Amino acid sequence: PETPPPRRARAEIDLGALRANVRTLRARVAPHVRIMAVVKADAYGHGAVRCARAALKAGADWLGTATPHEALALRAAGITDVPVMCWLWTPGDPWGLGIKAGLDMSVSGMWALREVVAAAEATGNRARIQLKADTGLGRNGCQPADWPELVTEALDAQARGLVKVTGLWSHFACADEPYHPSIAAQLDVFRSMLDHAEKAGVEPEVRHIANSPATLTLPEAHFDLVRPGIALYGLSPGPKLGTGAELGLRPVMSLKGSVALVKQVPAGHGVSYGHHYVTEGETTLGLVPLGYADGVPRHASGRGPVLVGGRVRTVAGRVAMDQFVVDLGGDTPEPGAEAVLFGSGERGEPTAEDWAAAAGTIAYEIVTRIGARVPRLCV
Ligand code: PLP
Repeated sequence: PETPPPRRARAEIDLGALRANVRTLRARVAPHVRIMAVVKADAYGHGAVRCARAALKAGADWLGTATPHEALALRAAGITDVPVMCWLWTPGDPWGLGIKAGLDMSVSGMWALREVVAAAEATGNRARIQLKADTGLGRNGCQPADWPELVTEALDAQARGLVKVTGLWSHFACADEPYHPSIAAQLDVFRSMLDHAEKAGVEPEVRHIANSPATLTLPEAHFDLVRPGIALYGLSPGPKLGTGAELGLRPVMSLKGSVALVKQVPAGHGVSYGHHYVTEGETTLGLVPLGYADGVPRHASGRGPVLVGGRVRTVAGRVAMDQFVVDLGGDTPEPGAEAVLFGSGERGEPTAEDWAAAAGTIAYEIVTRIGARVPRLCV
């Protein structure tokens, strides 16, 4: 039997805001630069398929995911007419399915090239591969010293009709820190790795390195394509670049709940596990039925901001698995009153960036970790 959506909690998804963010990004890049909407991790918690469709409608040209399974799910949902790239491969992953689905598959080293070539031989179809350079992030990608061998082997497989090298790409370490010296250093290394590959005979359709911060602040890093993620969802890549609103972006997700109980308590009353909050005087407490199982960070215990009854309150004591408490300071909203943890900020509510500051993390983690138990409602 169908059950109605719970009153307890919901994440409202404003796809109009997402479309506006794509248009804002489009206006920040040259007309020839293509936009890959990064929709990995269920579009940072916002819903991959709906966000992919909205981004494409607003002018995105490509989709990007981390895992092959995320990319295959987009194809299975019927998104078959745009290029989809995925970059986080693990030995034994389904390269053959990726080939059949026409995915652009990132190759960071020799094991991956061997696996994709074997899958191309087995399926009889040519694989679209993009070679990833580690230009200084120190994470995934091919080291400059190993690049010539990877390029040579990829071109050999291309000559045998097994792969097509469609892209050359990399990723920044510190693009959210304006003027960080690693930015120019990575661009230098990227240019020389591109130069080597192109002189060796690679004719890439796309060369790319820019994530959201580089899309917003570094035109010289745009090359043929940019890969924004967090900016699509209306949030700032980091405090050094200002807030999402200051960057001209509109937050897409609002996390809302209902106050489940309001009660009067005396002074000296301990609140929630560990009694880390003790009421100073007689007051009212409001119970908000969301907890860390819903993605409310336990690290924001005693600090997270919540709009209830027209005023921003603070989480009192520990965030528990399913619930937390706010001190209402004597106010008595009706049970069922709306509690807004974060949203656009336009109506006085906190933002995901405020929660990130309260929890000592980044806004990416706040939205991405909103739990599966919280229904997403498009508004
Ligand atoms: N490109 C790659 C390879 C990524 O891993 C990510 C996300 O971390 C992005 C682009 C998008 O980054 P951002 O959300 O900072 O725009």
